[in-house]
Amino acid sequence: MDYPKVELHCHMDGAIPERLFIRYCREDGLVPEGMSDEEWMKKNIMSETMSLSDCMKLFAILTGLLQNKERLEELSYELLKDMYASGTKLAEIRFSPQSHMNENLSMEEAIEAVLRGRNRAQQECPGLVSGIIVCMMNLGLNLGTIENNTRTVELAAEYKDQGVVGLDLAGDEIATPIEDYGVMFALARKLGVNYTIHAGESGSASNVAFAIRQGGGRIGHGIHAIEDDAVVNELIDKDVLLEISLTSNYFSRCVPSIQEHPIRELWDRGVKININTDDPGLMGITLKHEYDLLEKLYGFSEKEFILSNLYSAQKSFCEGKEKIIAELEEAYKKCS
Ligand SMILES: [Zn+2]
Repeated sequence: MDYPKVELHCHMDGAIPERLFIRYCREDGLVPEGMSDEEWMKKNIMSETMSLSDCMKLFAILTGLLQNKERLEELSYELLKDMYASGTKLAEIRFSPQSHMNENLSMEEAIEAVLRGRNRAQQECPGLVSGIIVCMMNLGLNLGTIENNTRTVELAAEYKDQGVVGLDLAGDEIATPIEDYGVMFALARKLGVNYTIHAGESGSASNVAFAIRQGGGRIGHGIHAIEDDAVVNELIDKDVLLEISLTSNYFSRCVPSIQEHPIRELWDRGVKININTDDPGLMGITLKHEYDLLEKLYGFSEKEFILSNLYSAQKSFCEGKEKIIAELEEAYKKCS
């Protein structure tokens, strides 16, 4: 059955389409002379055997490529067009404005460039509902500063009517205590900004409990909730949606294998789940690849996929989501 897909957790830099990645790398002189596109991609795709330091190098290359307005605009435009072409009709893409300031771009300029790309895609894709989430960065690994994180919250509020639909906390979850960021979410609440939080991805169930208490209604991954029944029950009681990415959780070593992921157990116990790619460009995967895995390894049925998309649309931060919700309700009825 044809039904609209809803993807809420996709990092714009990690989702860079291969054609753009290769072009930017060549323009910046990163590809050794004589090396083919295929060889270059083979070296720069994340895999289960890649060491953490090589993964970090890959992220550093990506960040280095995306330091000007033209590329940021092109990336959000091309990415949303690709998502739409593959059946995603409600898309939230996220990025960290402070990660694009190496060449004197301001956070405002970075956000405006991404919004221009998003607006162009929206104009060209009938029925597409989309929004941008801006990410604060965990202060570990020198990826963010308190000042820039605070500014990110303020900018989420300032650009709220222009396509920025929410806020996130990304980066290395276990580098600094998640509780340190409570003050940022308090500011977001004061400014009327929606948010989701990366929690319980590499971190523990207690990080998920913290994220639930912040009241954003959505959590990035949250899979380690499974270690504490009380936290799983709280997810259900508080009606929290988990944004889960099977392959990403495995590649980042948050689960021992794809076969041992808690997604089926969480879903069967009544936790609402959104299916995502997280960093599809980095990992060389698509959303369809993730659906296929869930069907094959965890027996997810079409009816369950539709229900998961319906829950996700209901929890989306985007304006104009009602039409997608209605289409999914209709598809679910037909399946029942
Ligand atoms: Zn993520």
